[in-house]
Amino acid sequence: MIRGSLPIIILTIMGIFVLSACTNEQTATTNGETVDNEIQNNNGTNQEKKDELVLPDKKLTIDSKGNDVQQLQTILKKLGYDIKASGTFDADTEWAIKDFQSQQVKLAATGIYDKSTKEWLEKALNGSFNIKPGKGIAKNKATVKESDTITVSNPTDKLVLVNKQHELPDGFEPKDLVVPDVPFPFKEDLPKKYMRKEAAKALEKMFTATEKAGLELYAQSGYRSYNRQQVLFASYSEQHGEKEANKFSARPGESEHQTGLTMDVTSPDIKFQLNTDFGKTDEGKWIRENAHKFGFIIRYPKGKEAITEYQYEPWHLRYVGKEAAKVIYEQQITLEEYLGVLKV
Ligand SMILES: [Zn+2]
Repeated sequence: MIRGSLPIIILTIMGIFVLSACTNEQTATTNGETVDNEIQNNNGTNQEKKDELVLPDKKLTIDSKGNDVQQLQTILKKLGYDIKASGTFDADTEWAIKDFQSQQVKLAATGIYDKSTKEWLEKALNGSFNIKPGKGIAKNKATVKESDTITVSNPTDKLVLVNKQHELPDGFEPKDLVVPDVPFPFKEDLPKKYMRKEAAKALEKMFTATEKAGLELYAQSGYRSYNRQQVLFASYSEQHGEKEANKFSARPGESEHQTGLTMDVTSPDIKFQLNTDFGKTDEGKWIRENAHKFGFIIRYPKGKEAITEYQYEPWHLRYVGKEAAKVIYEQQITLEEYLGVLKV
C-alpha cells in the first residue's frame, strides 16, 4: 500500500519544496538548515528516495512555521487527517497531533510534535500501528475556549495538564498510590499522605537532599479524591463565594491533587501552614532552586497568575519528571506554557 503511493508522495513533497522556496521567504532562514541536512542525508545514498517522506526531527508546536511543519502536515494528511498542509502549525494541526497521541497510551496528548510522537507516527506510516483520525479527540474540542472544559485523555501521564480548562475524567483514581517515606506533621494514615509511586520515590529523594542541607521540610497534603475535593470546594464556596473560592481552591475534577502527582510541603517555621510565607523560609527558598532536580515544579509561580489562574503557591509541588522540570525551571515558565496549551 505504501509502496504504491510512494511516487505520489515524492511528487507532493517535491512540490512542497518548490512552493516553499517561492513563497516562504521569511521561513527560509530559520528552516534552511534542516532542509539542507535532509538533502545531504539523501545525497548519494539511495536512488530510491524513500527518505523523502521523513518526519521532522525538530520539536514542533502551535505557531511553528516552515517546511518541517508542512512535511508533518503532509504526513498527517496521508494518515487521513483532514487538515491543510499550510506550513503553519495551526489549531487543526494541533488537534491532529493530539488526536493521534491520544490513541497511543504511551503518548501524552500534548498536541506537541516531539521525538516520541515522531516514533509512533513512523509506526503508523509503515502500518505497524493503526489509528483512526478523529477517534481520540473530537475536532471541535481542539481549541480551548474560555469556560469550556476539556476532559483530559491522559490522566495517568506525568505530564497531564489539570487546570480550570482541563479536568480529569469522571471517577478518576490513580491505581498506584503509596505513602512516601517522608515526615508529615501528623500521624494518622490519611488519603492525603498518598502519592503515585513514581512521584513518591522522587519526593523521598528530594527530602533526603533537604535533610542533608540541614532543612526541616514536611509533607502536608498529597492525593485528594474527587469526593474530598467536592466537600472542600463546597465549604470554601460557602465561606467566600464560589468565584473567590476558585482562586485558591479547585472545583472537583480540576484539582491537581487528584492526579496523585502533587504534594503540598511546609516547615515548622510557619507552623506547618500552607501560605505564601513558606516562600520566605529556608525550606521554601531551597525548594524554589532545587525541586526541579528531582522532577518537581512549583506549579503556581508568582507573576504567572494570569496563566495558571491560581494565586502564588510556593508550597504546591507537582511532579512532571526531571526532563520537563528542568526546562520549566530554567525558562521560568508554567506547565501550560511548556505544553503549549494556553487559553485562547
Ligand atoms: Zn496544593
